[in-house]
Amino acid sequence: MEYNNYRIFHVHTWRCRHAGEEQDKEYIEKAIELGADEIYFTDHCPFPENPFRYRMSMDELPEYVSTLQKLKHQYAGQIDIKIGLETEYIPIYDDHYKKLYDSGNFDTFVLGQHFSLLPNGCYTFESKEKISEPKDLANGMMQGMESGLFSVVAHPDQIFRRKKIWDEECKAISREIIDCAARTGVILEQNISNLLGKKKKRTYWPEFWKELPQGVRTMYGVDAHSVAELETNYLKQQELIDNDIRRIGEELIQKNIVALRALAEWESE
Ligand SMILES: [Zn+2]
Ligand SMILES: [Zn+2]
Repeated sequence: MEYNNYRIFHVHTWRCRHAGEEQDKEYIEKAIELGADEIYFTDHCPFPENPFRYRMSMDELPEYVSTLQKLKHQYAGQIDIKIGLETEYIPIYDDHYKKLYDSGNFDTFVLGQHFSLLPNGCYTFESKEKISEPKDLANGMMQGMESGLFSVVAHPDQIFRRKKIWDEECKAISREIIDCAARTGVILEQNISNLLGKKKKRTYWPEFWKELPQGVRTMYGVDAHSVAELETNYLKQQELIDNDIRRIGEELIQKNIVALRALAEWESE
């Protein structure tokens, strides 16, 4: 795979119940209009018996896959459409992940650790006490990274969304995550949606991204929940890439080649 600035990564659809109502085709047409040559749909992953909110249900999954497969063929030669899922890593669902993985229906799995399962059997979203949330989310995230199921971690710095300042705890936890990324080769996604900061909480921390050691792979993700957001975030991504190249030039390009190769390798496994 060659160096490519024209990727749209991390797109949600109407199925997740918190996105715009536009059809998949409209995202694709917009991506083509913007000059992108790849679009990765990574809608939120359903689980057996639908225990979690804000996502399609299990019985909607076949339609997601078949619709995108049809579009993949229809748009071949114009844009490369990838089919993926964004999911939390919850160890009790290992069989479920394996089944999805082995189905061969997906080009990529993105780890988005919006919640974790705690040792006491509760989920982080069920506990009133939020003090330990960053650590709990980081633990789930790192287990997921070690599982070998995921190519990319979405918004790793989002786990600090309840923090007011970048403190010693943030530093220590992010060091662990970054070490884990270096060790496992999983790519860390700089989330444009969080960077543009339209959410109430602080979900993007530039401190996390400063001075990443060599060998840690990063990439941009648009995390679009509407066609308008896809456009805004992709244009921002182009601006960031241009700035990055101006700022650190060749070095960044090399870093990106590493990231892109990692993704290509993962996909061809
Ligand atoms: Zn979402
Ligand atoms: Zn997402």
